[in-house]
Amino acid sequence: MTTQRGRFFTSVSRSVEAAARHLNIEAGLLEQIQCCNAVYRMRFPVEREDGTIEVVEAYRAEHSHHRLPVKGGIRFAPTVSQDEVIALAALMTYKCAIVGVPFGGAKGGVRVDPFARSPRFLERMTRRYTTELVKKNFIGPSIDVPAPDYGTGEREMAWICDTYDVLCPNGMNNHACVTGKPLSLHGIPGRREATGLGVYLGIREAVAEAEDMEPLGLKPGLEGKRIIVQGLGNVGYYAARYLQQEGGAVIVGIAEREGGLFDPNGLDVEAVFRLRKESGNLLKLEVGEKIARSEELLERDCDLLVPAALENQITAENAPRIRAKIVAEAANGPVDWEGQEILRQRGVFIIPDLYLNAGGVTVSYFEWLKNLSHVSFDRMTSRWQEESARRLVETIEGLAGKSVEAVMRRKLIKGPKEVELVHAALAETMTTAYRRLRGLQREKDLPDLRTAGFVYALGQVALTYRDMGIFP
Ligand code: GLU
Repeated sequence: MTTQRGRFFTSVSRSVEAAARHLNIEAGLLEQIQCCNAVYRMRFPVEREDGTIEVVEAYRAEHSHHRLPVKGGIRFAPTVSQDEVIALAALMTYKCAIVGVPFGGAKGGVRVDPFARSPRFLERMTRRYTTELVKKNFIGPSIDVPAPDYGTGEREMAWICDTYDVLCPNGMNNHACVTGKPLSLHGIPGRREATGLGVYLGIREAVAEAEDMEPLGLKPGLEGKRIIVQGLGNVGYYAARYLQQEGGAVIVGIAEREGGLFDPNGLDVEAVFRLRKESGNLLKLEVGEKIARSEELLERDCDLLVPAALENQITAENAPRIRAKIVAEAANGPVDWEGQEILRQRGVFIIPDLYLNAGGVTVSYFEWLKNLSHVSFDRMTSRWQEESARRLVETIEGLAGKSVEAVMRRKLIKGPKEVELVHAALAETMTTAYRRLRGLQREKDLPDLRTAGFVYALGQVALTYRDMGIFP
């Protein structure tokens, strides 16, 4: 166990142990649930642009095999370590349990700065990494299914899918070996924005509870809430966009690696995103107040702080200075154990990562199901639903003796598109999971939602182990 106890995994383990005190799980079973089942640490050569060789260090951790396949993203970052992938894999196990996604948790990481490397280098590296995973049976539709994470996206998932297909030819279900793929490779509409949309939906649920908002001095609802978002990557961008456009919140701050922008009157997320893409640097934009040290922005006045980048952003060091009333953990592990204790004492409401960012893996599950069934979710039912709704509307019109107005008629009759089904199923998942955790917290008088999340997840995983028994 000692090699597994780095800082991040220790932080996750402390939450697990705190939650386990509210459950009756025998010590051996708890240890089995908590530990990481398998870690593959690899080193492989990749040819650089100038023909020289770089030795790349990478990992894949499979935290829990209580359900298969195991599932979790692949991260490309210079900070990747064994401690980090194990901790993130563990969070995946608990996250999947919370949103009822029938997978064990896993995570991969490659120690590289993807923003400093050429696409050709990244492609060679990704394909070699996939080859290593295939050789050791650490990837496959029924074994271990990666997805995007920090520093990776659809492009990398396409390379992984293609490499797997080349190395394991003629597999009927090969496309289900990875999720977050482009649509051209049997991805699913709605996956790209899924984590950010899930973050928005989760925050919306949390702030709707008047009873929880009152002690914070806040009114229920998102409208007008002042929000600072850290990270304008796939998660932060979509979360901020939905919070602003759908929720009516005011995005007063946006932080990125190079610095941040602050404007109490609100920043236009779409414009900031586009201009940053063009100039490559937030600090080059002529909007709001420029903040050179991005960490400083976390401490500015706001109602909600949404860390959507990396782990350990709020620690004992800066937690006393956080002015947000709610911290919504869009990233994995952005508040460490000590940071959390300080925030809790200061009355800050935390919406925990293991619930809040589960939208990504939820839609990954839908993509995997789609790949295994080899058909889009709308294909078999959309037209039938449309015909059936048309007959119903016509019958009502006949009985009432008047016609439904044209715009309403179209709305009533229209069959669903796949993306609408995905968004609706995601909304249902996030809403149900929130109510379950908040209900559990009340029922068992648990100190916070994180504890409720771990209590629920541990209970689910323990139940599976108990029911299946131990072989041999
Ligand atoms: N990397 C994402 C996460 O941390 C998504 C994982 C997945 O879709 O498998 O939840």
